[in-house]
Amino acid sequence: MYQIKIPFINLTKQYLQIKKEIDKAIKKVLQNQQFILGEELRRFEHGLAAYLGCKYSVGVGSGTEALILSLRVLGIGKDDEVITPVYSFIATTIAITEVGAKPIFIDIDPDTYQIDINKIEEKITNKTKAILPVHIYGAPCNIDQIKKIADYYNLYLIEDSAQAIGAKFKNRKLGTFGILNCFSFYPTKNLGAYGDGGAICTNNYTLYQELRRIRNYGQVKKYHHNILGVNSRLDEIQASVLRIKLKYLDDWNKKRRAIAKLYLRELNNLNIKTQTIIKGGISNYHLFVMEHPKRSQLQKYLTAKGIQTLIHYPIPIHLQKCYRYLGYKKGDFPVAEKLAKKLISLPMYPELTKSQIE
Ligand SMILES: *Cc1c(COP(=O)(O)O)cnc(C)c1O
Repeated sequence: MYQIKIPFINLTKQYLQIKKEIDKAIKKVLQNQQFILGEELRRFEHGLAAYLGCKYSVGVGSGTEALILSLRVLGIGKDDEVITPVYSFIATTIAITEVGAKPIFIDIDPDTYQIDINKIEEKITNKTKAILPVHIYGAPCNIDQIKKIADYYNLYLIEDSAQAIGAKFKNRKLGTFGILNCFSFYPTKNLGAYGDGGAICTNNYTLYQELRRIRNYGQVKKYHHNILGVNSRLDEIQASVLRIKLKYLDDWNKKRRAIAKLYLRELNNLNIKTQTIIKGGISNYHLFVMEHPKRSQLQKYLTAKGIQTLIHYPIPIHLQKCYRYLGYKKGDFPVAEKLAKKLISLPMYPELTKSQIE
């Protein structure tokens, strides 16, 4: 076993910076003994909407559930098709199959690692209901081009912004382009809770109201259930933590960008290829990802030096065993398959020091 000198992520460092505020906020929830759908959530939802520049946000149980409820509230289900990138965290596709719809995969661009927008239109059929793009690693996909396609073919646009909170395209925050936009507050995300959490953001009042009911058993008023709902709520303790962390998010993202800049400077000197950020885009550097032809050797070498790295992601979604029934095979998405063998993620969190980065 090698000793880890530079971990991939270090949440303790962040906690210690804001410990006083966090402990106080959690204590307040404990004193109030209101744990579900209370004042903390109400205030966090307002804060998040204001931060993003959208009208409404709905706190839910996780990022995956944000995606599931979004598809569901739009009536997407059996016999419907949803267009989505083949290379992402699997939750994006899980949401589609969970509502009974069929994921239609699109290969990714070899430079941006984002959904290849030139391959979307040929996959649109009369069953297509929505496009569900991902802002991979916290960098914007070509969201305004995708929105144009969605509008032209009358499809819903749902953003998977789970990795991209605070990132921008043309000065507009990601997660404000779609009719519904999904965020994750999984602890290691840029805005991480101390447990599971997620949110859906929208400017559509009707969908906002409906989502608030669906997440709470479809309840219109107590014990009156006109629509079918589920139980998926962001709890008060998580909301209280997130409310504090939201104040620091821009600062943390700025630090991540400064770290990325240092990485890029050093890696460019070595001619190592990294993720291309599209023109007009600002990444939040949720992950810092680079390509290497001898990835596993490099990873072993770094491990021996005490530097922890991860692979996002080793298997493209169409080759996951759970999706064998979809009928895709090796070779269907050559770009994703090639990159799955070459990409490696370096340590990335705001508290990394200059010497660690170097
Ligand atoms: C984290 C993540 C999700 C799922 O969020 P959870 O809160 O873990 O359910 C969905 N999509 C992407 C791209 C993610 O990175």
